[in-house]
Amino acid sequence: MSELNNLRNRIEEINFSILELLSERGQIAKKIGQEKLKSGTDIYDPMREKEMLNRLLETNKGPYDDNVIKQLFKEIFKASTELQQSENEKHLLVSRKLKPEDTVVSFDNGAKIGDKEKIFVFGPCSVESYDQVDAVAQDLAAKGQKFIRGGAFKPRTSPYDFQGLGEEGLEILKEMNKKYGLNVVSEIVNPAHFEMADLYVDVFQIGARNMQNFELLKEAGRSNKPVLLKRGLSATIEEFIYAAEYIHSNGNSQIILCERGIRTYEKATRNTLDISAVPILKQGTHLPVLVDVTHSTGRKDIMLPVAKAALAVGADGVMAEVHPDPAVALSDAGQQMDLNEFDYFFNEIDKTRQLYL
Ligand code: PEP
Ligand code: MN
Repeated sequence: MSELNNLRNRIEEINFSILELLSERGQIAKKIGQEKLKSGTDIYDPMREKEMLNRLLETNKGPYDDNVIKQLFKEIFKASTELQQSENEKHLLVSRKLKPEDTVVSFDNGAKIGDKEKIFVFGPCSVESYDQVDAVAQDLAAKGQKFIRGGAFKPRTSPYDFQGLGEEGLEILKEMNKKYGLNVVSEIVNPAHFEMADLYVDVFQIGARNMQNFELLKEAGRSNKPVLLKRGLSATIEEFIYAAEYIHSNGNSQIILCERGIRTYEKATRNTLDISAVPILKQGTHLPVLVDVTHSTGRKDIMLPVAKAALAVGADGVMAEVHPDPAVALSDAGQQMDLNEFDYFFNEIDKTRQLYL
């Protein structure tokens, strides 16, 4: 056998040894990933990678120079991090890897969220009075709608702004449920309120400002009503998914996600609607996803095309705010649709909805 062949055979043996070591390394990395999951430790640890690299370079005898060794090991580290990430995702209860079928949230009035029949959640920003909510509820019922939204506990930026009617607001919403058969969606801001609110509300909303209020999430997880979880103002998609996992891991699998825009440098809209979050959430989780076109855009002039885009990228429904007299609204006066504007918006978006049936 020629020397070239000898050397090639030796190289091939080494390839197999490296492969065997890489496989063993991968198995250990997976176990480390499980330990990290148990202890809540971040998967990616740049400091530890740097230390490992430094130790390797100190013992590098050549012939590859330090940069080559660094590059090769960085690839190995990256492969391990990705392996840990995808393994850990499989363990998340909200993950599609664990449960491939869509979660469908069903209601006594026959409504379903997440079953391909796209739905709408409309209603005022805040509950202000019986007549104000009744005017919207009547309109929604006439349009064949199954949900109404309205805030009784308002998490306002300023403590001097209207904070909501509290339980009295929930009572008004419950009246609408009795009168028109609409499911009530309303925000809860205090973990101690779930029991009281259970009497009035069909869907507990957790607002953007509370997406990482873990005690609130845990309590929502212990409740037995669907939870509509909104994405935090500056939350990553991963953080959003983990927030949903808090609810699921505490026992409640009826979760509806809502993309409502995130904070960026852009000032043309109130928030930047992350439209790509919709298919990413649909791929990564089995939960229904809604898009709130009011709080994301903050602009009535673009709500309709944005709502159409939401349905086109696979959202299970759209949320928007409607008020009989937005000019005097106690919150979000600038962006709630009046009943005429809503009429046009509804007819158009309902036509789009029918395209997907
Ligand atoms: C709301 O839907 O009433 C609300 C306050 O929205 P967000 O939490 O998305 O700001
Ligand atoms: Mn609002």
